[in-house]
Amino acid sequence: MALVNEHFLKLRGNYLFSDIAKKVNAFKVTHPEAKLIRLGIGDVTRPLPQACIEAMHKAVDEMADERTFHGYGPEQGYDFLIEAILKNDFAPRGINLSPSEIFISDGAKSDTGNIGELLRWDNSMGITDPVYPVYVDSNIMCGRSGTLGDDGKWSNVTYFPCTEENNFIPPIPNHRVDIIYLCYPNNPTGTTLTHDQLKQWVDYALANYTLIVFDAAYEAYIREPNVPHSIYEIRGAKKVAIEIRSFSKTAGFTGMRCGYTVVPKEVTAADINGQRIPLNPLWNRRQCTKFNGTSYVTQRGAEAIYTPEGKKQVKETIDYYMENARIMREGLKSAGFRVYGGINAPYIWLKTPNNLSSWKFFEKLLYEVNIVSTPGVGFGPSGEGYLRLTAFGKRDDCIEAIDRIRRWI
Ligand code: PLP
Repeated sequence: MALVNEHFLKLRGNYLFSDIAKKVNAFKVTHPEAKLIRLGIGDVTRPLPQACIEAMHKAVDEMADERTFHGYGPEQGYDFLIEAILKNDFAPRGINLSPSEIFISDGAKSDTGNIGELLRWDNSMGITDPVYPVYVDSNIMCGRSGTLGDDGKWSNVTYFPCTEENNFIPPIPNHRVDIIYLCYPNNPTGTTLTHDQLKQWVDYALANYTLIVFDAAYEAYIREPNVPHSIYEIRGAKKVAIEIRSFSKTAGFTGMRCGYTVVPKEVTAADINGQRIPLNPLWNRRQCTKFNGTSYVTQRGAEAIYTPEGKKQVKETIDYYMENARIMREGLKSAGFRVYGGINAPYIWLKTPNNLSSWKFFEKLLYEVNIVSTPGVGFGPSGEGYLRLTAFGKRDDCIEAIDRIRRWI
């Protein structure tokens, strides 16, 4: 008899975005004439950079000719892309990594979800709260999170609350936590850590043998100079951190699927006798067994992001989204809202007025001004009383959304 992995049964029935979709569909049935503006789900709307399109067309032509055809590629990714990453994302910041420390993936979601396979199920874990839900859910699936309490918190998870009260700076724990997920620039709050603030986490990890999983999916949106682009800008981080990156939000690759994970040779975890075991060969083994590489065509497209034309086109798209963010942030502020994020990230994090709950304010925005947002509580208990808006929409929609909210308020 096949026995089910009962930890899956602990997952909450509905995924946040399906709950939202249901409420939006119910609204559409009763209000067919309403013009909805969607500022909820974090997907991009601009097309791929022209440089990527041209590179992929060329790669498709190669696949059509038996002299240049590519079958299975290296599980770790093609050298041409790895070299471009090292040369552009790390070398200019003084970070030396070797090609075998980079693993090309089909995006950051898979790797943030799968990386826990390298670690025993009974490690303790910690997350900033609110946070991208994949970190907690993937740990629930393997039994690492424990049981769910009435307060919406999992028993084996340490939550580092990030709210207005602490200016969204997660407090360093006063006890040992084995695995910590950090996401900066942050989804959903849009906030960042400075070099000194991130250094405190690296120092904590060095002192406590903690492994940090650092999700830098929104690195391309950083505008301010004192915000680190990579955790490896902090001395000692190579010993304690795995960094995960994505081309999804950088270059509109949400539908293409490509990202990468950095597992430095120095990063280790302990075996049961306390001996330090390097994680790089384990991740390599895991990928060789369970992953057959990202497609050749996609990797050629990703490589083109690093060409001079690619860089220029990526910048134009990011500037477009960040101008949306500015319009939304300033418009909402002048309408009297307390607003965070939107400076180094494409997310606006809004405090609900009059202490309304996240879902209550979500419904008011939906029914009274026909705007779809994301309730903050869907990202964790400390997200209650907040709402996330994304800057990935079309310019006209952003302007109209802010106009509607200002007139309504
Ligand atoms: N990490 C964070 C913090 C995200 O917000 C997202 C997507 O929204 C991802 C990872 C997923 O990225 P990818 O499209 O590369 O799987």
